[in-house]
Amino acid sequence: MNATITYRTGSYYSETDTANHIWEISDEQGIASELYVSISDAEVMQIETREDRRGEGLARQLWEAANAQLAIVYHSLPAHRTPEGEAFASAVGGESVTECHIDSCDCTDIIDDDPYGY
Ligand SMILES: [Zn+2]
Repeated sequence: MNATITYRTGSYYSETDTANHIWEISDEQGIASELYVSISDAEVMQIETREDRRGEGLARQLWEAANAQLAIVYHSLPAHRTPEGEAFASAVGGESVTECHIDSCDCTDIIDDDPYGY
């Protein structure tokens, strides 16, 4: 059975300056599953399913809705995935971003700078 997916745009939790596509599945207890994708890069910023609703394929339904709407959605860099995000990425497959989009991130510094100082 397919859950009802709602779509909105908004910022990422406490941040006020980020713009995300947000797909959510709600039930009587609130948000059951949510997927945040940055509008600028179509990159997954957050994927979370409430513990008691895991294993039902809710996150996959959100992923499919996102891909249907945006044509393509990218997983974040492996270095930025939570364990749940990592499991999600391997479960649903798809492409990942090829560069970090976080300002002043360690991994950007490693890529941009010569690590040996030559
Ligand atoms: Zn990074």
